[in-house]
Amino acid sequence: MAYRAGRCTNDLYCSLASGKQNLQIPVDSLFVCPQCGKPLTAPSADKRSFSTPALLAVGLRDAQSSCLVEQAVNHALGAAYAEAEGLLVARLHGVKLSVLAEDFHRGMQARGLSLEDFHHEL
Ligand SMILES: [Zn+2]
Repeated sequence: MAYRAGRCTNDLYCSLASGKQNLQIPVDSLFVCPQCGKPLTAPSADKRSFSTPALLAVGLRDAQSSCLVEQAVNHALGAAYAEAEGLLVARLHGVKLSVLAEDFHRGMQARGLSLEDFHHEL
């Protein structure tokens, strides 16, 4: 079986992240941490010095909060947010432009429209 290397960056909630170790994930599996579910970072991407923005608009408000209630909520939900984001990222990698185009054209035809009906200012 083929594997892909990745690193977990969920330092706050995942023990696999603290070791900075490469995890071996089967290529036919979601590219997420097996412990916390957060999307993994490819080792080649580690060398770049930019971070990815949060994908979900909902999530932990302050991962470094000093509020004990907020910390408890973060501990309870942190893995779930990471898992949800991992699932979205995995699905996003499977989206093909050709499939989107086909869906667009079906919708356009269902409404009796043609490409000439769409105008975009550049
Ligand atoms: Zn992890």
